Amino acid sequence: MTEEISYPVINKEICKGCMRCIVGCPQNAIVLSDEMNDAGYQFAVYSGDGCTGCKDCYFTCPEPLALEVHQLKNIRNDDVAKMIKAKVTSKGGN
Ligand code: SF4
Ligand code: SF4
Repeated sequence: MTEEISYPVINKEICKGCMRCIVGCPQNAIVLSDEMNDAGYQFAVYSGDGCTGCKDCYFTCPEPLALEVHQLKNIRNDDVAKMIKAKVTSKGGN
């Protein structure tokens, strides 16, 4: 059984690329994308690894609804846990 999987989910069209979440993450788990969103901002993305679910990024983000921290607890099926981890790693939690 997997105890917990945590990861940030960033809405790239709301993110203004201010980098507060990047600076504030104690795990250095958030990075700035090389791409721009429709408004012309480079947006933040999850690196795909290292999130502990501390929520510092959530509390430091000034843009409502730009960033959520998802925490999945007590996942009883290891195959489901593997699928979730693979998705988060490949898509940065988005
Ligand atoms: S929840 Fe904590 S560890 Fe995870 S990305 Fe946000 S600041 Fe980093
Ligand atoms: S703190 Fe919020 S607005 Fe700033 S880069 Fe991170 S997700 Fe984007």
